[in-house]
Amino acid sequence: MSAASAATGSLGHCPKCRTTTLVATDPRASRLLRCPSCKGTWLPKDEARLEAVASLLASDSTIRPGEAGDSRTGLCPNGHGILIRARVELADPFFLERCPECHGIWFDKGEWNVLAAGHLLGDLEHLWDPSWRAKMKLRRAEPGYVDGLEQALGRPLYSSLEVLATALKSLPHPLRQEALAHLEALLEDRPE
Ligand SMILES: [Zn+2]
Ligand SMILES: [Zn+2]
Repeated sequence: MSAASAATGSLGHCPKCRTTTLVATDPRASRLLRCPSCKGTWLPKDEARLEAVASLLASDSTIRPGEAGDSRTGLCPNGHGILIRARVELADPFFLERCPECHGIWFDKGEWNVLAAGHLLGDLEHLWDPSWRAKMKLRRAEPGYVDGLEQALGRPLYSSLEVLATALKSLPHPLRQEALAHLEALLEDRPE
């Protein structure tokens, strides 16, 4: 893989498999693309059709919940680079990925059904919503929060995080995004 395709992804290719071409699988939702290899799904930004697409996918037995392959960083199939991850807080949390440029959303195999079961499909956008993030920021700003976190993590780990943050801050933005995505991928790595 060339450095350029590693950074931006290739047009029409699966965000995860990288070399597999995404295909439309149903004329009722021709913009919805599926990877024949990993069975992931690319949903372009088009909220009006979300419900129709949801019922379409719900009837697809090739997608089973609980098989989310979250450990790889995704690249936008429209060539916009790294997808931004949003953590879905369910009993078994996972990450959805969205392109900050074209706002397409990538579902690893099974993720759609998990969201549908949790009735979260209508709330997809809020996962990347600035006001939701602002709420989290407020929580971090509560008095004693940082001290409590330092105590919970222990001093060595806490200062390692500070060192890491300082190093990441010095990077240009795209590289910092890539480093963070890699960190998340490392955290998500679980045994097969
Ligand atoms: Zn794939
Ligand atoms: Zn994009």
